[in-house]
Amino acid sequence: MALKTAARISTISYDIRGPLAALADELEAEGRDIIRLHLGDPAEHGVAAPAAVLDAVRRNLDASCGYAHSQGIPQARDAVTAYYRDRGIDDIDPDDVTLGNGVSELVQVALHALLDPGDQVLLPAPGYPLWAAAVTLAGGTPVHYRCDENADWIPDLADLSARTGPRTVALVVNSPHNPTGAVWPAPVLHAMVEHARAHGLTLLSDEIYAHILYDAPHTVLAGLAPDLACLTFGGLSKTHRVPGFRVGWMLLTGPRRHTAEYARALHLIASLRLCPNVPAQHAIVPALRDIEQTARELTGPGGVLRERHRSAWRALRGLPDVGCVRPRGAFYLFPRLPPGRRDGPFARELLRTQGVLVAPGSGLHHPKGDHIRLTSLAEPARFAEAVTRIGLHLASPNGP
Ligand code: PLP
Repeated sequence: MALKTAARISTISYDIRGPLAALADELEAEGRDIIRLHLGDPAEHGVAAPAAVLDAVRRNLDASCGYAHSQGIPQARDAVTAYYRDRGIDDIDPDDVTLGNGVSELVQVALHALLDPGDQVLLPAPGYPLWAAAVTLAGGTPVHYRCDENADWIPDLADLSARTGPRTVALVVNSPHNPTGAVWPAPVLHAMVEHARAHGLTLLSDEIYAHILYDAPHTVLAGLAPDLACLTFGGLSKTHRVPGFRVGWMLLTGPRRHTAEYARALHLIASLRLCPNVPAQHAIVPALRDIEQTARELTGPGGVLRERHRSAWRALRGLPDVGCVRPRGAFYLFPRLPPGRRDGPFARELLRTQGVLVAPGSGLHHPKGDHIRLTSLAEPARFAEAVTRIGLHLASPNGP
């Protein structure tokens, strides 16, 4: 008898690691040269992790064999607390911090503690697909609000209002934004907080790209909403280039009389996975101590991510009929394909004929199906080669 599969699985997806990535593996195994631009993994593109981060894990390895506290080791939670205090988030202590095996795990823990069947969560479209899948797995219903390409991919506040109803319980904010790289300006974030306040929504702020900015300021959302329950997510996968370590954190803020019961649920669910990977947690202390310097090295003048991002954007803009809003943060480009091209078939044929792997926008909840996401992390000559191949594909008369 066939092994039973939960019905809700058919309603979730994570296309970034789906069939196209499998096809790329097959083509590579056949000896084809594949340019992989579908993931946001700095390590894959040779942007090495800070030495202090690696040293901390090596030094603490022998002492990390046992289980740790379910919320994470105290020195790392202290470091996260100090990091947010330095950014103006007062009235927090290490008990408000929960560490996890990446933001990916923590999002699922947070949503399982929050949602009942039928509860709705507002999510940006386009958006990072983890969130919608995690909402569904936790029994909730994802409801997407539109980000407007004609306004630098900023959320459309009228659409956000229109999609808010009696079952809406939470609002997800993601700035800098994956996949568009938009950095949502403070007035927009203020308006979103005001919306959450007016409708009694919990704020869920995915700030994993908080330090990957190109001349745009980052706003810690929790600082705008001390009176609201807010979960802020961050980690070491992007700025510190160790996504393989699986290390992230989440901070719960807001009036304790409102958050205490939820915090107990959160800690209960966190305790079911016993504790996050212990060796990697040691990386948090030097990572956050040196964060400003690390960010400057990456995105300041001459910084490796700044240079790669700029040259990638310029190279892409050279393609005829391909439009791309200039991203102010993160390390993605989200171009619009020429009229008549559909993202899924386009990405598949691009991979098959030219050996370039990108993520179709519809897998990132872009309803129009005419965008693709590429990472700008690739070494510039490699990215330029990818653009040449994309150009050849676009020039082929019968391509989808
Ligand atoms: N949130 C966003 C917006 C992301 O882009 C990613 C990874 O690409 C994650 C969360 C997952 O991060 P982690 O490696 O900490 O699980």
